[in-house]
Amino acid sequence: MPETVFAKIIRGEIPARIVHEDERCLAFHDVQPQAPVHVLVIPKKPVENVAALEGGDEALAGHLVLVAAEVARALGITDGYRLVFNCGRDGGQSVDHLHLHLLAGRRLGWPPG
Ligand code: AMP
Repeated sequence: MPETVFAKIIRGEIPARIVHEDERCLAFHDVQPQAPVHVLVIPKKPVENVAALEGGDEALAGHLVLVAAEVARALGITDGYRLVFNCGRDGGQSVDHLHLHLLAGRRLGWPPG
């Protein structure tokens, strides 16, 4: 998997506004927020996207979701939020390192564009 900007954030080579870190993942504010709260939760393990998850990654994928919920609680989000994995070109993925978007702070439209 080619190196991405998120690998550099994991190694601390470029700055990020980190809101959670543990041995398996990192959560930080998106640099181009699409909502008042826009946090990305990423695994430290290099995985390109949801389609590249393998048997054995169940706990990791679940951990990302639980961390997103924990971050939402920690940020005081009480009116709901959306979790999104963009996958591949048609899914709108622009960074080829798995990431879970946590979006909150405004009423989000549906269906997404
Ligand atoms: P996606 O389009 O689903 O691949 O989402 C990638 C996200 O990464 C976008 O929302 C970008 O704004 C965000 N992003 C790209 N570079 C950085 C960075 N250096 N720090 C924080 N977020 C970033």
